[in-house]
Amino acid sequence: MSWATRRRERSCFTGHPEGVVLYAHLIIAQADEVAKPRIAQPDKSTAGSSPAIFPRKEHRISQSRISPNALKVLHGLQEAGFRACLVGGGVRDLLLGREPKDFDVATDAHPEEVQQVFRRCRLIGRRFRLAHVRFGREVIEVATFRGHYQDGQVESDVTTDEGRILRDNVYGSIEDDAWRRDFTVNALYYDAKSDEVYDYVGGMPDLKAGTLRLIGEPEARFREDPVRMLRAVRFAAKLGFQIEEDTQAPIYSFADFLSDISPARLYEEVLKLFIGGSALETYELLRHYHLFDQLFPLTEAALAEEPDGFPQVLLANALRNTDRRIEEGKPVTPAFLFAALLWAPLRKRMRESETTDLGPVTLMQSVASELVTEQAAYTSVPRRFSMPMREIWSMQHRLENRAGKRSLRLLSHPRFRAAYDFLLLRGEAGEVDPALCRWWTEIQEESSEAQEKRVQALQGDGKKRGRRRRRGGGGSQRVKNS
Ligand code: ATP
Ligand code: MG
Repeated sequence: MSWATRRRERSCFTGHPEGVVLYAHLIIAQADEVAKPRIAQPDKSTAGSSPAIFPRKEHRISQSRISPNALKVLHGLQEAGFRACLVGGGVRDLLLGREPKDFDVATDAHPEEVQQVFRRCRLIGRRFRLAHVRFGREVIEVATFRGHYQDGQVESDVTTDEGRILRDNVYGSIEDDAWRRDFTVNALYYDAKSDEVYDYVGGMPDLKAGTLRLIGEPEARFREDPVRMLRAVRFAAKLGFQIEEDTQAPIYSFADFLSDISPARLYEEVLKLFIGGSALETYELLRHYHLFDQLFPLTEAALAEEPDGFPQVLLANALRNTDRRIEEGKPVTPAFLFAALLWAPLRKRMRESETTDLGPVTLMQSVASELVTEQAAYTSVPRRFSMPMREIWSMQHRLENRAGKRSLRLLSHPRFRAAYDFLLLRGEAGEVDPALCRWWTEIQEESSEAQEKRVQALQGDGKKRGRRRRRGGGGSQRVKNS
């Protein structure tokens, strides 16, 4: 059964408490529109009009804040006789006085022509053909101006029945390109030669007002690419912008369209959502718009069972920590992020399996495999991250049940630091005893002699406890809510 089928089945009958109602509503909505799939057209009253031009004194872009390599690409293309501008998040962030994440270039040169200008250039992508110009570790993405399809044309070869775009490789003018972009604030062009900003879609006033507005007709634009709903939330959280009313209205009922997007693409989006420095705010918005349920339905269902319980606190704290680490320039691993995101359903399953005869470690391993497989129908989790994620989980039991000298060996385990950080999260959320967290914090600071003594003291304790347990009729191997 494919991921898409499994996801659709879930949205019909399980998971979301309102699943059936929601689905019925979508069938009606889709039946209306399936008959006329077409790509959204710009508003003809403004398309083709001349752009608002903002000269140097009316914007705050300083070329010293643009990557020298992006400037090299712009100059190289211009010297070869092409038009080339910075566009997208780079321009938006520079105008807001923020540090851009990357610099994207838009040009009238076709990908093959870009390749002729730059030696270290690779063409990539099928859905969007792009040129990647490489300078050591930095890659400057160069996109050819995208154009429109003819008005009313049925693009059965490039869209699905629901109007979703499969390929978008029709080239056009810079104005056309502006109208194909997602939000007005993402469609501003900076010409490094004239030092001017070009605005075809009213991006500049929206930027000043802190408004996130989809270009064109919102329903059609979300239908073309449902990932734009996730992008809306991401930019709103990151920039502190308000999503404009007409733009946000369809999101609640269109959230389910994300089930048509491949788990691989959604995984990439999840990373952008949670590793962009505003993870907590993003998470709250995702839940508000019912988008979180589309990405992590197993988590959503588990959290719904304990709305004020510690899984909720743990996840919020994990996201807050992620934001703090990013602000401090520390690395963040997707393994840890997914360990936190999927902890609630893992606990839920473990609880539900309490009656099995499996030992806690074996049970956790089996539940973890099951969970990773099921989550893969929504977002993929590459093995290089799902394996360490599972180690972080399985080490929780070993950290909780300190076993003499074996505890010392844990300290040098390659995943110790991540597992310990995860234990602290659980401690903060009230899931494990803070004294246990303190024990692991202190032992890391001690000399090896002091560590040995600490472990011996524990063994003494253990023996006493063991005797007590035997007298009481033997200890259970079953897991208790962890
Ligand atoms: P970030 O700061 O995350 O890089 P960004 O706006 O630059 O934000 P990118 O994913 O790098 O986002 O995309 C660059 C630009 O390409 C966007 O600003 C937007 O103009 C356009 N774009 C990207 N994805 C889409 C999409 N799904 N639909 C329409 N336009 C898009
Ligand atoms: Mg970008």
